[in-house]
Amino acid sequence: MKFTWFQSKLTFVIIPEANGSVVRLKLPRAALWCAASLMLLLFGTTCVLSVRSLHSTVSISLKSVEMKGRTVQLEQDLHRKNAAIERLQNDIYALSKQAAEVRSQMERMQRLEQDLHKLAPGSIERRKADGQPVSSAVSAGEGGMGGEAFPVTEEQTHELAEATGARYASLHAEMKELASRLGQTKRQLQEKQERQQRTPDIWPTLSKVVTSSYGYRKDPFTKKLSFHRGIDIAGKLGDPVYAVAGGVVHSAGYDRLHGHNVVIEHDKGLRTWYMHLNSAQVDRGDPVDKGQAIGQLGTTGRSTGPHLHYEVLLSGKSTDPAPYIPNDNRKKERNK
Ligand SMILES: [Zn+2]
Repeated sequence: MKFTWFQSKLTFVIIPEANGSVVRLKLPRAALWCAASLMLLLFGTTCVLSVRSLHSTVSISLKSVEMKGRTVQLEQDLHRKNAAIERLQNDIYALSKQAAEVRSQMERMQRLEQDLHKLAPGSIERRKADGQPVSSAVSAGEGGMGGEAFPVTEEQTHELAEATGARYASLHAEMKELASRLGQTKRQLQEKQERQQRTPDIWPTLSKVVTSSYGYRKDPFTKKLSFHRGIDIAGKLGDPVYAVAGGVVHSAGYDRLHGHNVVIEHDKGLRTWYMHLNSAQVDRGDPVDKGQAIGQLGTTGRSTGPHLHYEVLLSGKSTDPAPYIPNDNRKKERNK
C-alpha cells in the first residue's frame, strides 16, 4: 500500500488567461515530498546559521565595547605615567641645577679657605681634582635663550640622573675634605695667634727713641768701657711701660741698681726685664697680656734721667733686644 502511495502522481493544471492551451503537470507524490523536505531543511539550516551569526555579532559588539573601555583606561594610565615621568625629569633637572649651585658655593668656600691659608703658615694652594686652580664659577641664567626644542629621551634622562648623582657624591666627598682642612686651618691660626701673643714684637714704650744700644759702650757714670746688656729708651716720666708679650710676672721689686723693675717670663726660656720704673703695676705670679701696662717709666736706681732699660734674656743670658722690636719706625739713636 505504501509503495503504491509513493508511486501515485498528482496532476497540476495551469490555465493561462487568454487563448493559450492548458498545461498539465503530472508529478509523483514522492518528488513533491522530497522537494518539500529539502526546502524545510534549507529553511532550518538558514535559521540556525542566522541565529549563530547574530550571536557572534552580539558577542563581537560586546567585546568591542569592553575593549574600548579598557583602551580608555590604558590611555588614562599612560597619560598619568607620562605625566609622572615628566615630573621626575623636571625633578632631576632641578636637582642637577641645584648641584651646580652647590658646586658654585663650594668653590666660593674653597676660595675663602685659600684666603684663610694665607693668614696661617704652611698653606697649600687648593686645586681642583684636574689640577687646575679653583676659579670663579660662571653664573648661569644670564643672557638670552633659544634654539630648537628636542624631547628628552629615556637614555638622556638616565644619563642626567647618573651625572647628577655623581656630582652630589663628588660634592659630598669634597665637603668632607674641606671641613677637615678648615679644622686644620683653624688650629694653625690659633697656634699662630698664640705664638704671636707669646713672642715679643712690640715697643715697650710710647717713645721709640733709643738712647743706648745693646753692646759695648762708655758707662755714663764711670765713662769707662763697659757692656750694656739691654737698650735704653728715653721717655717721659710716668709714661706707661708695656709687656712686650704675654706671660707671667717672674719678679717685681726694687733694688738700688735696677730701681723698680719687673721681669716677665714668656715662652721657651725667654724673659724680658724692665728697669728704672717709677713704679710697678704688677706683682710676682700675675699673668700679663701683650701690650698690658705693667708700670710707669721712671728714673729709679742707677739712672741719669727718665728712660726704660729694656733687656731680653734667653735661658738666663742677655741677648740683643733689637730683633724683638719692630724696626719700621725706630727713631735715630741718641748718645750712641
Ligand atoms: Zn740701660
